[in-house]
Amino acid sequence: MADSTDVVTRIAPSPTGFMHIGTARTALFNWLYARGRGGRFLLRIEDTDRARSTPEATEAILRGMRWLGLDWDGDAVSQFARVDRHAEVAQELLARGAAYRCFSTQEEIAAFRDAAKAEGKSTLFRSPWRDADPSTHPDAPYVIRIKAPREGETVIDDQVQGPVTFRNTELDDMILLRSDGTPTYMHAVVVDDHDMGVTHVIRGDDHLANAARQSLIYAAMGWDLPIYAHIPLILGPDGKKLSKRHGATGVEEYQKMGYPAAGMRNYLARLGWSHGDDEFFTDAQALDWFDFDGINKSAARFDFKKLENLCGQHIAAAENDALLAEILSYLDVTGAEKLAPEKQDGLLRAMDCLKERAKTFPELIDKAYFVLGDRPFEPDEKAAKALDPVSRGILIELTPHLQNASWSRDGLEAAVAEFAETTGLKLGKIAQPLRAALAGRTVSPSVFDMMLVIGREESLGRIEDAAGRTET
Ligand code: GLU
Repeated sequence: MADSTDVVTRIAPSPTGFMHIGTARTALFNWLYARGRGGRFLLRIEDTDRARSTPEATEAILRGMRWLGLDWDGDAVSQFARVDRHAEVAQELLARGAAYRCFSTQEEIAAFRDAAKAEGKSTLFRSPWRDADPSTHPDAPYVIRIKAPREGETVIDDQVQGPVTFRNTELDDMILLRSDGTPTYMHAVVVDDHDMGVTHVIRGDDHLANAARQSLIYAAMGWDLPIYAHIPLILGPDGKKLSKRHGATGVEEYQKMGYPAAGMRNYLARLGWSHGDDEFFTDAQALDWFDFDGINKSAARFDFKKLENLCGQHIAAAENDALLAEILSYLDVTGAEKLAPEKQDGLLRAMDCLKERAKTFPELIDKAYFVLGDRPFEPDEKAAKALDPVSRGILIELTPHLQNASWSRDGLEAAVAEFAETTGLKLGKIAQPLRAALAGRTVSPSVFDMMLVIGREESLGRIEDAAGRTET
């Protein structure tokens, strides 16, 4: 077993569409495992299938990884760029007698399967070329197949599932190189993992049976088998395979919905892994705690409420500067207008009172209207209602009290309290039009927070605007 500082993990996505949330979770587990042990985390783009791989999908993966803060060591490796090496290893397996050239045509294979089916036998293809003398080889296209053992068992000692035994009668002589010389996924993944020095393969448990087949190549080449950890799938809240029906399944969709990356990491880490009862944790804690012991054996269910809840906690806990930077890139990816420098300053000054109450960036921005909007504030429908004639009268009466107050939390609170006492008005009756005047909204941070953030002159100006409004 590798020394812990020698840990090398990887994520090996196929660039055939958007980046799935399951891929992000697998990447995170690999990142946590390696980085938490001072090891290396690599990225390999499995773009060998030229018909399905697109540069746009590769870009989406890189963007998704960067957004989630899952930095990888070195350059992303293109699997396709390594096809010569895949062919070389296939030739080596031939030379070792661990693989063979198979000249069977598609029709012959289909006929074999039909006959096996009719006789009620296993339909695993048994090539007649497995032990054929090379002198009998025709001058015809061929594939290279592994010579899989036909007796005994192959055991994968999985770190999550425990030892899993496969009967070798169930393993076929899988193809390593196709007749056009291109490698199969089964072959390329082994050669690449070996050459990249991958010590731990952490991936979805849909690949568990592949591990048994892939182990044959390691054995035939005399290479060390990596340590395997196959993690259960992600299901939707109803226990069915996570799909569009349940909500977003693409990483970038979450970015565009305005979830903070730290909250996303925390939630994805909890999706199939746990550390006691801890729900909210930092990256440092996750890096410290993450281990195979905590990975659940059964599938995890996606819980949107929990995601929101954790995201809210991460927004509240974030440093204001970092939060501003993240909000600006959120606005950027959603194609929103850029925030002018003075609006950015306003947002930063308001951050303390905004970040306590938002689970996503759009929620935070919505509550930030009082620093993002401009005078004269056009109140929304509810705020306009709150500025009825009686309320405008209250604002007019309140104004001199605020003008005379010292502009501090205590000073402002005392002025409003005194005004409430002398007029016999309930605080809510005063706060409601005040909020509508300051924010143009009925939902916002507290009126005192807002007055302190925007300052005396601006506050009094907005109150004057609202008090002077005529009915619309
Ligand atoms: N390209 C494979 C996939 O996307 C990688 C599987 C693996 O991690 O070995 O599922």
